[in-house]
Amino acid sequence: MKTAVINIGCKVNQCECDSLMTGLLARGHEVTDELVFADNYVINTCAVTKEAERKSRQFVGKVKKINPRARVFVIGCASEKNFEQFSLKGVQYISGTAKKDAVLEMVDGVHIEPLPTQYESMPLGTNFRARAYVKIEDGCNNFCSYCIIPYLRGRCRSRSVESILEECKKASENTDEIVLTGINISCYGADIGTSLSELILALAELPVRIRLGSLEANVIDQSFLDAVIKAGNVCPHFHLSLQSGSDAVLKSMNRHYTTKEFADKVALIRTYFPTAAITTDIIVGFATESEENFNETLAFAKEIAFSDIHVFPYSRRSGTAAYSLGAIPDAVMSDRVKRLSALRDELKKEYESAFVGSVLQVIPETSDGIYFEGHSENYIKVYIPDRDYTAGKIIEVTIEGERPDGLVAK
Ligand code: SF4
Repeated sequence: MKTAVINIGCKVNQCECDSLMTGLLARGHEVTDELVFADNYVINTCAVTKEAERKSRQFVGKVKKINPRARVFVIGCASEKNFEQFSLKGVQYISGTAKKDAVLEMVDGVHIEPLPTQYESMPLGTNFRARAYVKIEDGCNNFCSYCIIPYLRGRCRSRSVESILEECKKASENTDEIVLTGINISCYGADIGTSLSELILALAELPVRIRLGSLEANVIDQSFLDAVIKAGNVCPHFHLSLQSGSDAVLKSMNRHYTTKEFADKVALIRTYFPTAAITTDIIVGFATESEENFNETLAFAKEIAFSDIHVFPYSRRSGTAAYSLGAIPDAVMSDRVKRLSALRDELKKEYESAFVGSVLQVIPETSDGIYFEGHSENYIKVYIPDRDYTAGKIIEVTIEGERPDGLVAK
């Protein structure tokens, strides 16, 4: 029996898919994460944007086209938000974000569990990639006005340090990099009497480098950076979600910092890690974003000199506080997306070109037979001539030039 486990969403979904694939393997299934012919398809959906939700629905149609007789199991944020949209011909089982591993036992029915209040363990996943993603928490307490996720995933629930350590130890057998991931990892630990800093210190003993997933600016302070320095194995890469460079917009987004506070956090990081990658997410075209506000965002992004920006066009989600604020015209939105993306490309190039001639530690991930593609400790994509390197194992390379989407090594 062949089962395809398809992830539409984030790295947290990916960790959950790994766990499900491991569970299916243990049950004797042949498993794949590719969109190929299979007897069963488990689709782990996403609702972070309208587009992600549309894509999640579209995948049901796609798999039915590949195998009209397949059994389809839908789980995740989009079905938590609105399970009826997946009540389509051929869908055997629909569930939400709770008890995802119940899909392993299921054959049919519609079943949405109440949101959990404590971290729900899933069976230990196997790492199927060159870099391993390890989920450390679920849920979020922030309720940013544009975000549907806290309603679908519930409040922040942290996984125990012991359980994370166990999975990281297992992952370190076949990779040199572990990415700590979650819905909001900055809130890690508060519910179980620990903190992200303490977790970082507990993982310092591992023979791997640790990359931190997306952080909220408020987690950055002296004691956090002290823990990062003391651990010694955390990548000099800080992904700090900004969302807007306008204080007025940040306020209407219910983000609890100002641009000045954000800039101070970046300056503190750079005191200790002067060449660290500072990457971010920015939402373009939020309902209250005027042209002037958007220009403030452009100027602030330039001032911070982000090394990369994930540009997200604002997606209005029913059920969120910001829904009633409306939306800006599509043409204005796409113009702003274009302008911020152009600035992103410029800043990225500026950051990357400074490393030509430097030595970087790269994890080779995939190869086209000529070049291995991988990421450095400061998250630059690096192409390395393929000499039978092992995916997942760090190699030290000297950067000799630039490519349109990264750097190239000797
Ligand atoms: S921090 Fe804000 S954007 Fe991120 S998951 Fe929580 S509510 Fe959503």
